[in-house]
Parts: sequence; C-alpha cells; structure tokens
Amino acid sequence: MVHSIDQYVDVVGAPVVEQLRRLGERLKDIRVVHVNSTREGGGVAEILYWMVPLMNDLGLKASWEVIHGDEGFFGVTKSIHNGLQGYPVQLKKKDWDHYEEINLKNREHLLPVLEEADIVVIHDPQPAALLQMIPNRRGIWIWRAHIDVSRPHHQVWKSLKQYVQDYDASIFSLTSFAQILPHEQFIIAPSIDPLSEKNMPLNKRYVNEIAKAYNLDRSRPLIVQISRFDRFKDPLGVIEAYRITRKVIPIQLVLAGGGATDDPEGKEILDEVYKAAGDDPDIHVLLLPPDAHRQINALQRLADIVIQKSIREGFGLTVTEGLWKGKPVIGGDVGGIRLQVISHYTGYLVNSPEGAAHRIRYLLHHRAKMREMGKTAKEFARENFLLTRQIREYLTLYLYLLKDRGRSVFV
Ligand code: UDP
Repeated sequence: MVHSIDQYVDVVGAPVVEQLRRLGERLKDIRVVHVNSTREGGGVAEILYWMVPLMNDLGLKASWEVIHGDEGFFGVTKSIHNGLQGYPVQLKKKDWDHYEEINLKNREHLLPVLEEADIVVIHDPQPAALLQMIPNRRGIWIWRAHIDVSRPHHQVWKSLKQYVQDYDASIFSLTSFAQILPHEQFIIAPSIDPLSEKNMPLNKRYVNEIAKAYNLDRSRPLIVQISRFDRFKDPLGVIEAYRITRKVIPIQLVLAGGGATDDPEGKEILDEVYKAAGDDPDIHVLLLPPDAHRQINALQRLADIVIQKSIREGFGLTVTEGLWKGKPVIGGDVGGIRLQVISHYTGYLVNSPEGAAHRIRYLLHHRAKMREMGKTAKEFARENFLLTRQIREYLTLYLYLLKDRGRSVFV
C-alpha cells in the first residue's frame, strides 16, 4: 500500500506537508539510492519501505536496493554489528576478506545505479565496503548508521572505519553515537509511518480477534515486547521482570518477534527464551511472519504497557510504535530509547529487571497516571518521531550536500 504525501495532512497538518512539497520541488528528479541488506525484518527495512515511495511522490527519483550474501557473510556482519554495540567479538582477516568479497559480488548488479546516482545512502555496516568499489561514482555518498555505536569494540570500529572514512558524510541517530571521522556528521533520528499497517488506527473487532487468536485474557493486564530475538533486546530480562511482577499482579506477557534475513543469531536466542518461559501459559512467545504488521499493531494496542528492555539500542522503533498507540513505554536506559522515553512523562527508563518490575507495578496500580502518560506519549511521538519529520531532515540534508552542485538551499 503506497501513500501520497497529501494523506498525511490529517495527522501532521497542512503546513508540514506543504513544506515537504516545497523541499521536494527543489530536489526534483534527483536520483537517490538507498542500499541495505534486507527487505524485511528490523527497523531499517521498516523505514525504507514507507519512505522511498513518499520521496518519489515528492518529485525525487528514489530507489531501494538490497545486497545479497551467504550465511558466512551475515555471520560476519552480525559480529560486526555486535562489536559496534560494544560486545567483544573476534574478527579475523579472512572474515573481513569474505565481507569484501560479498560486497564485490553485489557491486556487479548495483554498478549502473550506484555510478549514476546523485546521492547514495548506504545503511549500516553490511554494504559499507561498496564505496571503494565504485571508482567512477559521481554522486554524494552518505553512510547511515542505525546502531548504537556509542561504545564500540575498538578493533571492530578501527577495521570498519577503513571503509566508512571515505564517505562524504555520515548520519547517526544520536549525538552520543558520533565518531571521529574525516567528514561531516549529521544527526537524524528515525521515525515511524503513522499510516502504515503497523501504526494506522484499527477497528475494535480486529483487535479483539487478535486477542482471541493468541489466547489473551482481556480481564488481566498485558505487557508486550515486540523484537527480533536478539541478546541486545534482553528478552530474558523481560521474562525476569514478568516473574517478579507476577508475585503480586496476575499479568500476562507477550514476547513477539520474527527474524530478519540478515540476522542469523535469532534461533539461538529464541531457544533460550522458550527455555526461560517454560510451560507458563501466561508467557506468550509468538514467532511472527515478516508481514505480521497488523497483528503487531493490534498487540501493541492490546498492551497496558509496552516494554523495550534493550541493553543496547540504536533507536528502537518499537518504542515509537508503543508511544504512538498511546501507551507508556518502559525502556532500557540506553541509546535511542533515551530520546523517546522521558521518565515520568512518556514512560520509564530502567536499568534492571527489578527496575522494570517496579515500574510495571507502579503503573498498573495508578491507572489514571498511566492514561495521562499514554496521552503525553502519543503527542510526543507526533511532534518528534513521525516519518514526515524524518523526510524533512533528509531532504534538507540532501539540499545542503548538493549546494556546491548548483542547488539552492533556500526554500
Ligand atoms: N518488527 C516486526 N516483526 C518482528 C519484530 C520486529 O515487524 O517480528 C518490527 C518492529 O515493529 C519495528 C522494527 O521491526 O518496526 C524493529 O525496529 P527496532 O528499531 O525496534 O529494532 P531493530 O530490529 O532495527 O534492532
């Protein structure tokens, strides 16, 4: 389902849409290519799926390319990802050689579009080596990091830096993620699409059907975490928080997620989650297909509290999704969650399962406060984390970077 920018007037107001149209006119026919490593699963795919068509609607010639790799490649890039988020990983020369080899293979099918583009946005480490392989590039190349690189494992960052330092610019989600690099760095927070299946309003009947389908008891409180099964999302910590809370309140827990094609570790973590959940009928571990957007939307709406207890987080679109559904969010005190969860206003930042349990208990015992926080959460998301804001920042950045090529930055 592709939207037109005009459909956003009802959500963000006409002036916001008008400003985007004017920015789009300035960038008419500019060729922008986004490259990442998966079409589905995870936040990057979620953003590109909705953003690229809107950029076209605004007059740009935007496209989205995906690199392909084998199991070994995604094993290496997952280790790079873990290393950048501070986990001590060992990558050998042969791993980096394989990383380059797969990038080189992808270069073949991407070459024409990458050589011709006015702007290339390379997302995350997986396709970062492509830049060195396109000597005749004419456009501006931007490296867009979505992960929490505030405290990277030194050796991994040092190696990856060899590939990203030659970019013309890079974008991080938070100032605390910025690195020492020889080019300009920009801070742009990610966003959600309020009209996507994941976030659009749903009718009550459908939400009730989902509750029934997953055996959820509407008379008891529900806590929901939606996430890939990844150690940084701390699903085991969520189960611990649930167990502590269960001693005093008969809550239910949903841990729902699927895999991403560029994330090979999911199975191992899922097994650990099944083991920790045991045969407790009130812990619902749901393995969802990649297109379960409406189901996720319904689960977030069914939740009394949305939780995202990550121990590292680039941004956490699931947090934004929870805020947008008018739910207080209990989130790990890390990375992009800190931008979104303002303790006592839109939810609570926590540092342990005990802390999460304490806040769950508090909210469930103070329903009026919970409703008030939910309202604040929704307006906070509208102000700061909707796709229209992110598109405005991207377009402004493109204009700025293209200024030396005869494009006026004034709109
Ligand atoms: N998501 C999904 N299915 C799943 C798990 C996650 O559609 O099984 C979505 C989730 O709703 C969110 C995105 O994938 O839109 C995850 O983005 P986030 O920034 O929270 O985490 P990432 O996976 O990028 O680390």
